[in-house]
Amino acid sequence: MGPPAINARKTECIHGHPFTTANTYWHRGWRQCRTCNLHAVKAYRTRLETA
Ligand SMILES: [Zn+2]
Repeated sequence: MGPPAINARKTECIHGHPFTTANTYWHRGWRQCRTCNLHAVKAYRTRLETA
């Protein structure tokens, strides 16, 4: 019983996005929220462009 097991029972990410098949992908055994990842990439690009 570790963090991945606890994470697997959740139905939404830490930001409240639903963990649906379309919104979820696996990375190294961890579930990743596509919406959050998209936002993270967007923010990262914005930082690069404005830096
Ligand atoms: Zn999310």
